[in-house]
Amino acid sequence: MDAIREAILAGAPAEDLAALPLPESYRAVFVRKDEAGMFEGLPSPEKDPRKSLHVDEVAVPELAPDECYIAVMASAINFNTVWTSIFEPLPTFGFLSRLGRESVWGARHDQPYHVVGSDASGVVLRAGSAVRMWKPGDRVVVHCNYVDDQDPTSHDDSMLAANQRIWGFETNFGGLADLSIVKANQLMPKPEHLSWEEAACNALCNSTSYRMLVSRNGAAMKQGDVVLVWGASGGLGGYAVQYVLNGGGIPVGVVSSASKVKLLEALGCEAVIDRAEKAYRFWADEHTQDESEWRRFGKDIRSLVGEDPDIVFEHPGRQTMGASVFVAKRGGMIVTCAATSGYMIEYDNRHLWMKLKSIKSSHFANYREAWEANRLISLGKIQPILSAVYPLEQAGEAATQVHQNLHEGKIGVLCLAPREGLGIDNPELRERVGEDKITAFRRLGA
Ligand code: NAP
Repeated sequence: MDAIREAILAGAPAEDLAALPLPESYRAVFVRKDEAGMFEGLPSPEKDPRKSLHVDEVAVPELAPDECYIAVMASAINFNTVWTSIFEPLPTFGFLSRLGRESVWGARHDQPYHVVGSDASGVVLRAGSAVRMWKPGDRVVVHCNYVDDQDPTSHDDSMLAANQRIWGFETNFGGLADLSIVKANQLMPKPEHLSWEEAACNALCNSTSYRMLVSRNGAAMKQGDVVLVWGASGGLGGYAVQYVLNGGGIPVGVVSSASKVKLLEALGCEAVIDRAEKAYRFWADEHTQDESEWRRFGKDIRSLVGEDPDIVFEHPGRQTMGASVFVAKRGGMIVTCAATSGYMIEYDNRHLWMKLKSIKSSHFANYREAWEANRLISLGKIQPILSAVYPLEQAGEAATQVHQNLHEGKIGVLCLAPREGLGIDNPELRERVGEDKITAFRRLGA
């Protein structure tokens, strides 16, 4: 991979890149099937990704006709890598064996190791014989929606496809590596004004937030909507707040420290609630929720923006869902894509039906939505929320930061890129967008 890295850094022409031989193995971050029981009996916070995520060489898989080999310059940590690394809610090897049973090409994924990572920026090295839109040398970012386009169910909204998967979570050969194989319909142009690591951190969370808030498949937010955003300086929330502000909505961000409050205010989110300072106890004990605490939270929102939220951007799950359903406006929508604090959800259904609220589920984004979200990054209208960068060897430490909620925004990971700041192809656009905006999370984070 060294020769490939050098060629990319030297700006080698496409034909030279295409002519470089591929190695037989590559450096990757993976969990091992024989270690899937290593944390049994431990509570979640004590399960340590630094113990389960290994960095070592794995074999280069064969390329299917609809795929490309990508030289990965940078990647990012997503919460799904945390889930894989702590083997919760279940080990991801079951996903790989199911994919392995589907086809000859699927069988490649069923390995005793799982290469993780669902974001990447890089350069196309080879394109399979059925690939039409991409060629060696193309600088790309990768979105994680992995669908078989020969399946008819994938042809309305591809997130409804029967065989829809998340690359690097429900498939092998993910982005936390020096090389990856991706389907051609996962590729999007790399935003020219961003470095490799700034470009790599967006696709998963940015596309998810776009679908949840902007798309007609999500809440289809309109101007003036009040939007309550949980985890507003986190991976999803950091993009959600930008979409609300861009779309003429009124964000109410919830975070858990004074420094995160300051960060959000600096980004233009005026209404912010510090949940740690307020010390809400939505759950009186493990089994009982406390409506008076929901009420106190609702009052705090009203005191900031004068009304209840039209939309609640939900992902913490069990700890917050009761409160989210309660505080939403009459006729409002709770849009949810996750359950970090537990997936067995409880809410008071009377508050839902009597006030004609609705709960909408959302999961990643189809290619069109991911492309639109990437276009907004490329135009400089949505900013990357990169707050820290780690080398690939320290992916375990980076995942631990996310697992322990010690981070803000996104954590980037350098793969083939030897240092930060490389890969910016359009410095004029960068200047027009503004260095201060592009690097806000890096500069203002705690
Ligand atoms: P993240 O970067 O860790 O941010 C999540 C934020 O949620 C944290 O910063 C934290 O903010 C807040 N939070 C955590 N636990 C909470 C609790 N008990 N109560 C209230 N707030 C809490 O993670 P992310 O990338 O935004 O992902 C969030 C979740 O969505 C994860 O479970 C992930 O797997 C899932 N996800 C799903 C999809 C999909 O397509 N379905 C896509 C992306 C992510 P404060 O501490 O500052 O409040």
